[in-house]
Amino acid sequence: MKIGIIGLGLIGGSLGLDLRSLGHFVWGMSRKEATCESALEMGAIDKWFSDFIHLPQDNDVIFLCTPIGGIIPTLQDLVTTDRLLPQTIVTDVGSVKTAIVTEGEKLWSNFVGSHPMAGNAQSGIQAAQAHLFNARPCAVIGQPSSPQASLVAQLWRSVGMEVYFCDTVAHDRAVAWISHLPVVVSAALSLACDREDSSAIKQLSRALASSGFADTSRVGAGNPELGKWMAQANKQSLLTAIDNYETSLAQLKQTIESEAWDDLEYHLTTAHNLRPHYLRE
Ligand code: NAP
Repeated sequence: MKIGIIGLGLIGGSLGLDLRSLGHFVWGMSRKEATCESALEMGAIDKWFSDFIHLPQDNDVIFLCTPIGGIIPTLQDLVTTDRLLPQTIVTDVGSVKTAIVTEGEKLWSNFVGSHPMAGNAQSGIQAAQAHLFNARPCAVIGQPSSPQASLVAQLWRSVGMEVYFCDTVAHDRAVAWISHLPVVVSAALSLACDREDSSAIKQLSRALASSGFADTSRVGAGNPELGKWMAQANKQSLLTAIDNYETSLAQLKQTIESEAWDDLEYHLTTAHNLRPHYLRE
């Protein structure tokens, strides 16, 4: 297939590496020329373009992998510069779907939203890696009976992802719990630690921090711009999730204050038993 990737960072670059290794022709476009050159050197793309007017028109699929705020303006540019043939499918990888898909479908009838649930705390083309998507879940917006959604699903499966079809509202509510709330909670943890008023204790806690702190602070230390866009675009579902988190935190705090140790153990046992329902390890 002839595939375009716009936005060559962690997700776009990693996708290019995998799609090229499957034999697809992949062109890329990014904001900076130096990024395009790096992507070419590392084998993530076959060719790059610096402006819309020179992009090829005969593409099967174009992946929009810019930060969330750049996805719809990029699609708008593709449409206004007449870069899309009627059969070209455009998809995006944005972490929120209602805001993007509602606008995307208005601009292009063959627009399919998707969201690969893969990543790490790094960003930019230098963070791109092969097999990033392998054995991770991916949401595709639409029904398996839609030829467009089914082609997008097929491409994500080809790089090792397990695809789940859903609508935008269900997607945004679900990711508020398992992706957006963790960013806020994890960031709050680091910010709370920094409130320690003794500099000697703060220094000691920094020296002693190990795997537990690494696990719980990781997602809050990711790309701040991405976190901001995510909260703006999924504000209501995120606020609902934060309200529920505050309720759970207050409940745990109450058991400690009242020394209800059996109740605390009960809640921790419930959490212990819930975790495997969310993670396939
Ligand atoms: P990233 O590493 O920062 O990569 C995005 C790249 O897009 C930047 O490196 C930038 O490259 C380029 N870019 C920025 N604005 C652009 C524009 N207007 N036009 C063309 N290129 C532009 O971010 P990422 O983590 O790959 O995230 C990209 C998308 O994937 C986001 O929409 C995010 O919601 C989604 N996503 C991320 C994760 C994750 O865990 N990171 C997971 C799933 C989905 P230059 O400025 O260097 O050219």
